[in-house]
Amino acid sequence: MTNDFPQALTIAGTDSGGGAGISADFKTMQMRGAFATMVVVAVTAQNTLGVQDALVMPPKLIDEQFASLAADFKIRACKTGMLADPLRVKTVVNNLKRYNFGPLTVDPVMIAKGGAKLLSDDAISVVREQLLPLADLITPNLPEAEELAQMQITTEAEMEVAGHRLQSMGAKNVLVKGGHFSSNDEANDFVLLADGHSFWMTAKRKQTRNTHGTGDTISSCITAELAKGKLMKDALKIGKAYVEATIKQGINVGHGHGPLNHWA
Ligand code: PLP
Repeated sequence: MTNDFPQALTIAGTDSGGGAGISADFKTMQMRGAFATMVVVAVTAQNTLGVQDALVMPPKLIDEQFASLAADFKIRACKTGMLADPLRVKTVVNNLKRYNFGPLTVDPVMIAKGGAKLLSDDAISVVREQLLPLADLITPNLPEAEELAQMQITTEAEMEVAGHRLQSMGAKNVLVKGGHFSSNDEANDFVLLADGHSFWMTAKRKQTRNTHGTGDTISSCITAELAKGKLMKDALKIGKAYVEATIKQGINVGHGHGPLNHWA
């Protein structure tokens, strides 16, 4: 047997409710035709109403998960999601430096829709200084871009400024997601590529509560496409279209923010 099937990796947290985190990553990668593997950094007790509890994995077990994957798979692209705290971020950074798992997409997950902190405040500077420079792509939403670029973002022009700042901090390509603008009837994202070329990806806003796991989904779709050998620019466009399609049809399970529909 060959080892040629596109293999991708998510380094993130679980969601017992199945809609976000590693569950969203696995569904997305599967639907996009990449074999998904995982390094579990944290386990959350979670449903569509929010995060009730979380437990972080010991660094040794994180190291061992990386080593298990490196010993057996040919991972061609990877992404990070929930990284929880400074020690977990540093452990992941060390492993990413140790192994070559292809282009790295950093989804700098900070706060879940229900308000739970998935990254502690003291870990933000570690993400900025140690993880961001390793990123082939960073995919912040507006609040995350504000934290990382250390500026307020109230206009699309400021999204572009933030994108350039994040690139000057070391991320090769940047996707600033505009879905959090509450007034806008569009959800427009700014892309700044490694070669300096930039463009906007536009979409009509869909009024729905079922948006649990959107950030995980776009970043894991892009990761799957990169694992399949797609160019960054094309992977980004496919990611935007995929998340739009899955939001359009959502699924009514649970009593809060329902998950996306990956079978739409
Ligand atoms: N839970 C985990 C473990 C996640 O990694 C993420 C990713 O952003 C979320 C929850 C976010 O959920 P929501 O889309 O509802 O903000």
